[in-house]
Amino acid sequence: MSNRQSGLRQCIWCEESKQWHPKRLRKKFAGSSPHKFSQEHVLLDCLGAFEQDLTLGDLVCAECNQKFGDSMDRMYGRSGIEGLVRLKMGHKPADELIDFDENSIAMTIIDSDPVWNGLRLKLSNENSVVREVLDEAVVFLTPDGRKLAFNDQELEDLTSVGELGVPIGSEIHIIGADENLKNKRIERLRSIGAEFSNLIETPVHEKVGRIAGAMNQERQRAITKMAVSYLAKVCENKFEHILYTDEIRAIKNYVLTGESPGFNPVTITDPYAAFDIESDRMLGNGHILGVTFHQDESRQQIVCPIYIYQLLPLNVFLATDYKGALFPIMSVHHWSVNEPRICRRATLQQEPKDASLSMEQIPTNEVDRPA
Ligand SMILES: [Zn+2]
Repeated sequence: MSNRQSGLRQCIWCEESKQWHPKRLRKKFAGSSPHKFSQEHVLLDCLGAFEQDLTLGDLVCAECNQKFGDSMDRMYGRSGIEGLVRLKMGHKPADELIDFDENSIAMTIIDSDPVWNGLRLKLSNENSVVREVLDEAVVFLTPDGRKLAFNDQELEDLTSVGELGVPIGSEIHIIGADENLKNKRIERLRSIGAEFSNLIETPVHEKVGRIAGAMNQERQRAITKMAVSYLAKVCENKFEHILYTDEIRAIKNYVLTGESPGFNPVTITDPYAAFDIESDRMLGNGHILGVTFHQDESRQQIVCPIYIYQLLPLNVFLATDYKGALFPIMSVHHWSVNEPRICRRATLQQEPKDASLSMEQIPTNEVDRPA
């Protein structure tokens, strides 16, 4: 990689050798043998625009970059708690809420009142601000202590009250303070044959909600891709062959195909994996990506701590039994999003909480040396 002359280079993902030119020659060869690599952002660019971002200009071919952009990168930015925070912080406009995969998170109310506890919330765009609002219309408390809750759509889809599976004698709570909505719901229940001897109206008050993110495999692969990109950035020009060891090939294959590398690559390091909607945790002050070689019971591990929006602290294991040569890699970067509209990239000024990490300044800009 130290050679900055035109030639063939290998893409770290597809491992094909493709044409590479230094910046100053790319225009010149655009017609005859075009430059086949493009700038891949280490931190997905959907997570904010940063000055002096970390990019992989020489290591990822345009084709792979495009494929990731159209698939997992796109999905990652439109789902999960991270996708929700993007909406709430304005990294994604509120009117694009329609793209958001609401199944990727579970939002519920926590309350001491059994009628309220566990009720589902949904996202709503109110005057270009994304908010969590109650998704439930009717709650049944059954005589044997169960709770059944239905939203308006579910009520609409019913043809008879028997389909609800609600025993006779259940308390019926109509949720919401809106008089029109309430009447509509009562009417709807009547039309499907509900009895109203135990009808109770339950107006909405401010309730605390919790959000739990589903870390499905697709999201785990997107996160693992960021970890591999960060490792590649740290290795650039120095220990690049790590990217072609059996261990890292297995993790790259996991990102590309979903095939298990033989261990679970993504683990949550803090068991506190659900969040109070109003809590400050929802808006962490930045993103952290790091990588460290770690000795565990004589086994060598390559671990990437990842902390997106400082919501869910993750460890991404790129190798749990690394047999290759040892390298003194310990690095961490911090992307500050304290001012959401003026996002600047900054290196971490203080030691992160995890003492096994230390700081190392990594050159971020591609420099073309004279041939
Ligand atoms: Zn490629």
